[in-house]
Amino acid sequence: MPNRTNHKIVLASRPEGAPQPSKFRLEQSPAPEPRDGQVLLRTLWLSLDPYMRGRMSAARSYAKPVEVGEPMVGGTVNEVVASKHPDFKPGDVVLGYAGWQDYAVSDGAGLRKLDARRAPVSTALGVLGMPGMTAYTGLLTIGQPKGGETVAVAAATGPVGSLVGQIAKIKGCRAVGIAGGQDKCRYLAEEFGFDAAVDHRSKNFPDELRQACPKGIDVYFENVGGAVWDAVFPLLNDFARIPVCGLIAQYNMTELPAGPDRTPQLFRQVLTKRLTIRGFIVRDFADQAEAFGRDVSAWLKQGKIKYKEDVVEGLENAPQAFLGLLQGKNFGKLLIRVVRQVEG
Ligand code: NDP
Repeated sequence: MPNRTNHKIVLASRPEGAPQPSKFRLEQSPAPEPRDGQVLLRTLWLSLDPYMRGRMSAARSYAKPVEVGEPMVGGTVNEVVASKHPDFKPGDVVLGYAGWQDYAVSDGAGLRKLDARRAPVSTALGVLGMPGMTAYTGLLTIGQPKGGETVAVAAATGPVGSLVGQIAKIKGCRAVGIAGGQDKCRYLAEEFGFDAAVDHRSKNFPDELRQACPKGIDVYFENVGGAVWDAVFPLLNDFARIPVCGLIAQYNMTELPAGPDRTPQLFRQVLTKRLTIRGFIVRDFADQAEAFGRDVSAWLKQGKIKYKEDVVEGLENAPQAFLGLLQGKNFGKLLIRVVRQVEG
C-alpha cells in the first residue's frame, strides 16, 4: 500500500457569532488503511453548505455537532482508491460523507455509486443531490404551488433557491427571486428564467419586492429569515404556504434583536390569513428520493432547468470559501475541488 498523506481541516474551537478563519486548522496525518469490509476513499469534490455553521456550535439541534479537533463534516464525491469490500473496486466514483479531508475509510454504508456518463459527478452534491432534493420536496410537499400563483424565494441563485424558482415556473407560477446584488439578480432573470428578481441589499428592497409581487405572495420558500422575512410578511396572501427551509441570516446570531416582541403580530396574521408555516429537514422526505431523482434528471435533460456551480480549488481554501458562503460571496452551488496527486 503506498504511503498517502491525509490533509484534513479540523474544527479548532467553537465560534461565538460569525466564525473566523482561526476556528479551522489544517492538519496532516497518514491516510487510514482499509480493513476487511472497508474501502479507502479519496475526496474529489467537497460540498460546502450553510448547515455546517450549525455543526460548529454545541447548541442543541437536529444533528450532532462536530467535536473540537475533529474534521469538519460534509458531503463528498470520492474515488475508491483501495477496496477490501466486495461491492466496490478501485476507480469507482461514489457519493459519500467523508468530510473536509483527502482520505477516509468507509464500510460502504451510505455510499452511492455515480455514473459520470449520466451527469457530471459534482451534480450529486447540488442539483441532483441534497440541496436539489430540499428544493423539490419542500416546495412541492409543503409549498404546493398552483398555476398562476406567486412563489418567492431568497438565496435564489444558490442550489436550493434556484431550483425552487425553476420548479415554480414548471408548475406555471410566477417566480420571484431575491438575491444579493445586481449580478445575481440579472442571472436570475436571464439564465434561471425567474419572472422578477429583487436585490435584498437595495435600500428600497421592501418597495421593490412589493412591485415585483403585484398579486401578493402565495408561497414563500424561507431560506434566510431576518430583513427578507420582514419584507415578505406583509405581502403574504390568504392561505399562503411557507416551507421554512433555512434561516441563514440568523446562523451567526448570539442574542435576539432588540425591539418589541412581534410574536402577537405574527400569530394574528397566521390566524387571519390562515397561513401554513412548516419547518422541514430534507431527510423528513427521504421516501421521495426516487421521484426527485426521476423528475429533476428528466427536467435537466429536457433543458427545463439549469444549475450553476461555484468551484473553489484546493481543500486548504475551504474555510475561506465557507465563511464567504455565510456572507453571500458564493455565486451558485459552492464546491471545493480537492485535487491532489496520490503520493508514494
Ligand atoms: P446558498 O448557496 O444559496 O448560499 C447561501 C446564500 O444565502 C448566500 O449566497 C446568500 O445569497 C444568502 N445569504 C447569506 N446571508 C444572508 C442574509 N443575511 N440575508 C439574506 N441572504 C443571505 O445556500 P443553499 O442553497 O445551499 O441553502 C439555502 C438555504 O437552505 C440555507 O438557509 C440552508 O441552511 C437551507 N437548507 C436547508 C435544508 C433543510 O433540510 N432544511 C437542506 C439544505 C439547505 P445572496 O447573496 O443572494 O443573499
